[in-house]
Amino acid sequence: MTKAKPGRHFLQIPGPTNLPERVRQALSRPAMDHRGPDSAKLAHRILERLHPVFQTGGPVIIYPSSGSGAWEAALVNTLSPGDRVLFGSNGQFSTNWQRVAAGVGLTVEELQGDWRCPVDLSALENRLAEDRGREIRALAIVHNETSTGVVNDIEGARAALDRTGHDALLMVDVISSLGAMEYRHEAWGVDVTIAGSQKGLMTPPGLGFNAASPKALAAKETAGLPCSYWDWTQILEFNRSGFFPYTPATNLLSGLDEALSLLHEEGLDNVFARHERLAEATRRAVRGWGLEVYCRDPKAYSQALTAVTMPAGYNADVLRQVILERFDMSLGTGLGQIKGKVFRIGHLGDLNDLMLAGTLCGVEMGLAACEVPHVSGGVSEALAFLAKDR
Ligand SMILES: *Cc1c(COP(=O)(O)O)cnc(C)c1O
Repeated sequence: MTKAKPGRHFLQIPGPTNLPERVRQALSRPAMDHRGPDSAKLAHRILERLHPVFQTGGPVIIYPSSGSGAWEAALVNTLSPGDRVLFGSNGQFSTNWQRVAAGVGLTVEELQGDWRCPVDLSALENRLAEDRGREIRALAIVHNETSTGVVNDIEGARAALDRTGHDALLMVDVISSLGAMEYRHEAWGVDVTIAGSQKGLMTPPGLGFNAASPKALAAKETAGLPCSYWDWTQILEFNRSGFFPYTPATNLLSGLDEALSLLHEEGLDNVFARHERLAEATRRAVRGWGLEVYCRDPKAYSQALTAVTMPAGYNADVLRQVILERFDMSLGTGLGQIKGKVFRIGHLGDLNDLMLAGTLCGVEMGLAACEVPHVSGGVSEALAFLAKDR
């Protein structure tokens, strides 16, 4: 007999995130004619309302894909076999993106940094300055490293390119920051922005995005990597009339349409402020427990998730397992080299004060149940913070 689970599951991983009720309803609309007038209206409405989310007036391309597909799309549309891509690397998602780049025949160079800190911009600038032959064709950085809860300074990376007069394309993964934290494709001088549907955008997994700058679109003209399914040109041509070259994920698009309504009704600035507040409350609880936030640089704290360091000798995955069994809550696991050493609290997407309070209570009860050394009552630091006037 399966164990009864009254109440609702707490999904507090940093993506996929909770689906708002309105999005769930939109997902269950009947299948539609993807070449009919309603589909065209839907696509136009979505494409128009994605611009302020990416903060761009330029094209945004939507794929029926995971975020990793959109990584590959960014690379194969703009680069040629053997081109060198420099990765400012400080976490597992950068590592995974490098594997995709190597897999499509690019030369990967990793500027390996401390996982607990943002990418070192002076080391980055030095490497760019050294590259007098301009072998580096793209600089690739993850904005919000979901494996660590560390945010990289994209404007700083742009400034490093500008100061060295380097012409490499700037590619930025915002899969876990878009819709949760401030991001500006155009103002920050990004050439290709890569996003996914299942995190800040509160839509199920299955949609990938590329936002492209004029420079990226120009690079497309001479790019030599094989590119067919991911080809921007064909998609943009079809998009003009509200269609796609192949069957789009229509039900997911309906969900995204509703999620965009929710984001714009709340107002993006309010959405970001809400995330900032929930993140601060989370960090207060962590400190209250006497535990450590994995990110060492307060300027680089993620507003989307917090990775918490386990005391030495205690396995984070055991804690997660107990919390799942006892309290029906999913927390994020430690990825790659920090497996077992951290757990991650997702606090992005469709989330309010009481959902976060419940989440933090679940963590505190789990710490007690597993006899992990901690100060009990840390959660009250978060509650006191949330109770204050906004
Ligand atoms: C989730 C995530 C990905 C991977 O997205 P998939 O949809 O699983 O392919 C890549 N980068 C970052 C920063 C992420 O948070």
